[in-house]
Amino acid sequence: MNFLITAGPTREPIDPVRFISNRSTGKMGYALAEAAHEAGHEVTLISGPVALTPPQGVQVIDVTTACEMLHAVEAALPAADIYISTAAVADWRPATPSPTKLKKSAMSGTLQLVPNPDILKTIAPLKGDRIFVGFAAETGDPQAEAQRKLIDKQLDYIVANDVTQPDAGFVVDTNRVVLYSRASQPLVFPLLTKTELARQLIAHLLAR
Ligand code: C5P
Repeated sequence: MNFLITAGPTREPIDPVRFISNRSTGKMGYALAEAAHEAGHEVTLISGPVALTPPQGVQVIDVTTACEMLHAVEAALPAADIYISTAAVADWRPATPSPTKLKKSAMSGTLQLVPNPDILKTIAPLKGDRIFVGFAAETGDPQAEAQRKLIDKQLDYIVANDVTQPDAGFVVDTNRVVLYSRASQPLVFPLLTKTELARQLIAHLLAR
């Protein structure tokens, strides 16, 4: 099987030295890439800026912004059988990034933003019989939001986690997730390291 995985945050420039981004470290996506490769599959990993060493044997494509990530996904998708979207794509970007460093005195205190494309929604028409898997980091009701996004983003699976818990979600090495699918009942995973969770998720997707 050919896996396409996105990981990490995207970074949206304000000027050459400033950006908006989020707390994603890429650990979950990198663990999934490693697990899929260990299981004997081809893996392309499209990564936002992270401080991780790429897993051996995985083809890594580095990107910075959401728009760059979208273009990289569009280019890699035709060869993919499974697309797993773990990236924490920034929802907004500065409307007019400055090519030169903005002087404090030139900043107004208001940053004009425009919405980024939703990568999953943009590529949904190209899905065909590929398996699409999303991730949902929630601070509210993970179940309701995950089920809404499963339909809205036309996914086969969505992995939901409550990022308000100290042992799950961003930055930490463990995660506690529920896998929702269109076809079957939710599957609740116990607290696991991201490495072990990645192995179990890959095995589950392949068993389908
Ligand atoms: O809507 P929300 O960001 O919570 O959805 C999360 C899922 O959607 C993740 O799989 C994420 O990678 C994907 N996503 C995307 N493009 C965006 C925002 C999120 O593909 N602009």
